Amino acid sequence: MAIVETRGLRKHFGDVAAVDGVDLASKEGEFLVLLGPSGCGKTTLLRLIAGLEQPTAGEILIGGQVVNGLPPRARKIAMVFQSYALYPHMTVFNNIAFPLKAQGMSPEERKKKVEWAASLLGINRLLHRFPRQLSGGERQRVALARALVREPSIFLLDEPLSNLDAQLRASARDELQQFQRRIGTTTVYVTHDQVEAMGMGDRISVMYQGKVRQIGTPQEIYHEPADTFVATFLGSPPMNLVERKDYLLGFRPEHFLPKDIASVQDKTVTFQFRVTRVEYLGADRLIYGVVAGANGESKAISRLSATLTFPIEPGKGYDFLIRSQDLKFFDKATGLRTGPKLL
Ligand code: ATP
Repeated sequence: MAIVETRGLRKHFGDVAAVDGVDLASKEGEFLVLLGPSGCGKTTLLRLIAGLEQPTAGEILIGGQVVNGLPPRARKIAMVFQSYALYPHMTVFNNIAFPLKAQGMSPEERKKKVEWAASLLGINRLLHRFPRQLSGGERQRVALARALVREPSIFLLDEPLSNLDAQLRASARDELQQFQRRIGTTTVYVTHDQVEAMGMGDRISVMYQGKVRQIGTPQEIYHEPADTFVATFLGSPPMNLVERKDYLLGFRPEHFLPKDIASVQDKTVTFQFRVTRVEYLGADRLIYGVVAGANGESKAISRLSATLTFPIEPGKGYDFLIRSQDLKFFDKATGLRTGPKLL
């Protein structure tokens, strides 16, 4: 199995730096997610790895070998795009067999290979159908099977689930992750959906404006964000940032709790929280309001489990606390994480 690595990788389109100096190395067999907002350079990075774009500068290595000069076919990668691009006039069988036919494989071998991939993905009964006779999730599996028969050393997946409805997406996510664990092929997966990234990735690389802002496990990215971009891109609602003299104080909504009900032994800090709005979300209650910041008031949000029935009304003020260990500190000018400050 191969790992994929980039060194000082750049891609400029005119004066747009779509990929702006990316150093990234996957681990063998890992599921690495590239996460970031629209336009941050995720797809361009994936296309560079695949060989569909030529870099402006830097190197791409697959399995330790520099592949910059190699055409896509020679890179032993398989890419599945958002639009699965199945051939509409071919059956599922022929769609999956197509790359093998192009390689000159014999019909018997092709049949064996297609049946192997189809059973891995649970689509044997669909082999005689045409793409128009399949659901979105089934089409996605066919596209994966077509990528799989080539036995790639690396899978590159670009938002492969984005055409599916919410329910199907959740089950497809689960399936795709289990499938990847089973075959153990190193996978680079692009998404702008943080829930997908958190749920699927062994590690997440958070991108913004062509750069990697942080790479780490979902837990690291969520609990120890490297800067205010990462802190506010992950989490829904995002991390609260309260302005202080020369720094920003960050805390997650689920750590911001009414003093009267929080049974906490650890050191805490307390804010007077003036509530403006309460939103009921079934399992949770979101409390919107303001706390005192350096330059007037700062907005803040608390997320309370529905099991906490403590009454909270808009227009009133309450003491809310945060455990000191749950506070994060960021430099006001650069947004970068700093060490703790004296409060
Ligand atoms: P999305 O989630 O919307 O697909 P992305 O993170 O994948 O976004 P890219 O498609 O990699 O972003 O685009 C990164 C930047 O490069 C954008 O500003 C985009 O407009 C620009 N870009 C991408 N491809 C080209 C191109 N062929 N020519 C010129 N600019 C391009």
